[in-house]
Amino acid sequence: MRNIEFFRDKRITVVGLASSGFSCANLLHDLGSRVSVTDNKDDAPVRCLAKKLKDKNIFVETGKHSKDLIQKSDLLVLSPGVTPVSQPVLWAKEKNIPAISEIEVGWMLCDASIIAVTGSNGKTTVTTLIGKIIEASSRRVFVCGNIGTPFTSLVKKMRPEDFVSLEVSSFQLESCYNFRPKIALILNFNRNHLDRHKDMREYLEAKKRIFINQGPSDYLVLNSKDKLLKKVSKSALSEIVWYEPDGKLNPNQQAVIKVGELLGIARKTCLKVFSAFKGLAHRMEFVAKKKGVSFINDSKATTVESCVWALRNINSDVVLIAGGKDKGVDYGLMLKEAAGKVRLAVLIGEAKDKIRRCIFKKIPVIEASSMRDAVVKAFLNANSGDYVLLSPMCSSFDMFDNYKQRGEVFKKEVLKL
Ligand code: ADP
Repeated sequence: MRNIEFFRDKRITVVGLASSGFSCANLLHDLGSRVSVTDNKDDAPVRCLAKKLKDKNIFVETGKHSKDLIQKSDLLVLSPGVTPVSQPVLWAKEKNIPAISEIEVGWMLCDASIIAVTGSNGKTTVTTLIGKIIEASSRRVFVCGNIGTPFTSLVKKMRPEDFVSLEVSSFQLESCYNFRPKIALILNFNRNHLDRHKDMREYLEAKKRIFINQGPSDYLVLNSKDKLLKKVSKSALSEIVWYEPDGKLNPNQQAVIKVGELLGIARKTCLKVFSAFKGLAHRMEFVAKKKGVSFINDSKATTVESCVWALRNINSDVVLIAGGKDKGVDYGLMLKEAAGKVRLAVLIGEAKDKIRRCIFKKIPVIEASSMRDAVVKAFLNANSGDYVLLSPMCSSFDMFDNYKQRGEVFKKEVLKL
């Protein structure tokens, strides 16, 4: 690993104790930093991780953040859920203490070549596919980041000849300052996450951090059809590589092929990987066929654009189950794809009324009180040959722990029919 000396003996406070905070605290402790961890939650998962860290003599504070702890630090490391305007970061700013993301720590230590993937939709799918094509070319690759496995949990094992396929969210990029991947890929920009980012400009600024430190020997891979990306690319110093979605492959696959070209991986190899790829759970996942009605779990579709993507990929009439926690978007944007294809929308969750107002003029709408109710109503209103699609366009936190639990509940209810 590089830059180990930078971390030795530094007083580092990790803010947020979920998987990335936990692995970062462990790694920095092993590197000789004086690590503390603080999380304002004190629930069972936090306590469980806190116990493991305390067993290693790492100081952990739960249920609050102490100003004193923050202001006695040399550096803060932020978990993705911690925003730049949260109290610990504001306290750090008062004393000019830098606050960086766990991704930046991983990058500082990483010896391998990084391919970083961001965008509003498709990150996990594309990060996975890039991992698979590199594997297929007989090189060692680590697939990590926002996808689930923290970067800092694997960085120790990475050698200079290895590759990292790294998913990075805008939340993680917000607190990156020197991050410089060899290849940066931005898939698309949509009006996503406006619940956390103040406005679109702030969201774009966060995403730009994926390439802003790149130089002429690095690559920035972009979708040529995306007008916002064209604008944003003007501030890049890296070599820009455009990919052009064609009729045969979808934009995700085109992006992966371009990255493959840069790494010397043949198109043929990529195509083989695509045809063997069964897809990921909760993303256009086939659940079952009941009385001729197919059920698709697309619980990860938390944006309007991902619902449009799902509808484009289905060639039959659809009964759509949508709704959840509103992310501040205009649901009417789906009408162009949905009108004429969605025979009925069954709405659940907090965003019910807002979605209804946006779509009821073009699509019949009914409401459901739970996922069970939604699945039963959707089934009763579907004809043989139709698809019942759970593609919520919203996050899940009003009714579920996360999108995975939402998808699991959907699948369970479908299998009960
Ligand atoms: P992310 O990691 O960015 O959330 P995922 O790969 O997990 O993306 O996919 C999330 C949802 O978006 C799924 O419902 C998936 O079917 C859909 N999706 C995948 N790629 C795209 C794309 N390029 N544009 C729009 N939606 C997409």
